[in-house]
Amino acid sequence: MIVLYFSLLVLPVVAAWLQDLPPRKWQDDLSSGIAMCAFAGILAEFVLSGRFRVISSHLGIDTTMRVHQLMARALTVVVLIHPMLYVTRGPAYPMPWDTTRQLSLDFSLIAVLTGLVAWVALLALVLSGIFRNKQGGSYEAWRASHGLGAAIVALFGTLHTLEAGRYSEHPFLRWFWLAMLTVALLALVWIYLLKPLWQTRHPYAVRSVRKIGDRTWELAIAPVRGDALAFDAGQFVWLNVGHSPFSLHENPFSIASAPSTRDQLSFVIKEVGDFTRSLGDLTPGTPAFVDGPHGNMTLGGRAAAGIALYAGGVGIAPILSILRELRARGDRRPLVLLFGNRVRDQIVYPDELDAMTRDLDLKITHFLSEPPAGWTGETGMVDASALNKVFDGRNAGQWLHVICGPLPMIEMIEAALLDRGVPDGQILSERFYYD
Ligand SMILES: Cc1cc2nc3c(=O)[nH]c(=O)nc-3n(C[C@H](O)[C@H](O)[C@H](O)COP(=O)(O)OP(=O)(O)OC[C@H]3O[C@@H](n4cnc5c(N)ncnc54)[C@H](O)[C@@H]3O)c2cc1C
Repeated sequence: MIVLYFSLLVLPVVAAWLQDLPPRKWQDDLSSGIAMCAFAGILAEFVLSGRFRVISSHLGIDTTMRVHQLMARALTVVVLIHPMLYVTRGPAYPMPWDTTRQLSLDFSLIAVLTGLVAWVALLALVLSGIFRNKQGGSYEAWRASHGLGAAIVALFGTLHTLEAGRYSEHPFLRWFWLAMLTVALLALVWIYLLKPLWQTRHPYAVRSVRKIGDRTWELAIAPVRGDALAFDAGQFVWLNVGHSPFSLHENPFSIASAPSTRDQLSFVIKEVGDFTRSLGDLTPGTPAFVDGPHGNMTLGGRAAAGIALYAGGVGIAPILSILRELRARGDRRPLVLLFGNRVRDQIVYPDELDAMTRDLDLKITHFLSEPPAGWTGETGMVDASALNKVFDGRNAGQWLHVICGPLPMIEMIEAALLDRGVPDGQILSERFYYD
């Protein structure tokens, strides 16, 4: 994927170089070259938006979103400096003797205006992503503005490239930019139109909602017809409850039920904001829609002598799905679950977890950072010393490690595992947050 991605970025520069046009000042060609690379990358950002399973189920949602964000920021810096690098100046009209545009830049109104609109829109788009949490307003409004802003950047950026670009006059590059623009816009059509359309034909309805812990709910939805979607334990969906699938009201939640339970999907949801705080008001029968499954925090195809699961708070949701599936399959491998919470009330499904220790070769250790009097489990956070106890005399490197919870917990466990010589590929994690 990395090779394909970077090949796409350098392709327009190679195509420009092969045209063998008369040389210009090096600053001008540098400016054109980096702008072409950056704009190809910006158009590729549309498919890195986390909504394409072919990408996010390979890379995982955390990596996909990190690449999306970091590349967007880096490419924007390049685009911002692009107009400042040019040293050649020229009249606002083409000079008849300068057919290869070696001596002048195109300063026609359309070339300048399209570039300016794309340049400003791109800067606004990236800044609004970086400072989203400080802006107030709903996530849905931000998402709508992000999609619209991205479409403006793609359209005006392509117009500018075709109008002002010296090398883009070549038919190959014209087709290249038009194809990239088409893919970018189709990505939006897919996300905002085709997927919702598909969802209207595969509706779900709320089956039950119940409080299962401190500010934590279990929500179960059932397909109106047929079976629930097929997924691997550990994956998540974008869930829309009580709104039209064409609205932007959807949130990512890990599926907590086992894939073998095909009559419903269940979720463990913590109250955080607008939607999650309104779960108690939901009534059975409320329409629901899902987009998924997404994510790669799954056991599928990974060999392991044993499986260590680390959950922080509501991070237990995908881990429950994994445990439930292992139990349904009668897996005999050794398993450990280190489950950290702040207070005892946050421990969900204590009886079911207890029953799992009898049906599976599973050892569960609970950690509470604010333990009540008489607490017999561990106190504090899941940390390196906890790992030392679990893996005393065992080869952690041959186990698979699945971590889901707050970022500091994930980082601490990952660092401790790497210190113990666990290969990177044996560690899977998801952090429920990608800002
Ligand atoms: C892959 C993944 C799996 C998750 N699984 C679970 C789970 O099993 N249980 C659970 O309780 N929480 C889970 N979350 C977190 C959950 O999505 C948010 O807590 C929830 O969306 C908050 O919505 P809200 O309307 O209540 O709050 P809001 O105030 O609207 O949002 C609070 C924050 O949640 C995030 N968020 C909201 N909507 C979206 C969206 N459409 N896309 C991405 N992020 C969004 C944003 O960071 C936002 O700032 C998961 C998140 C991710 C990324």
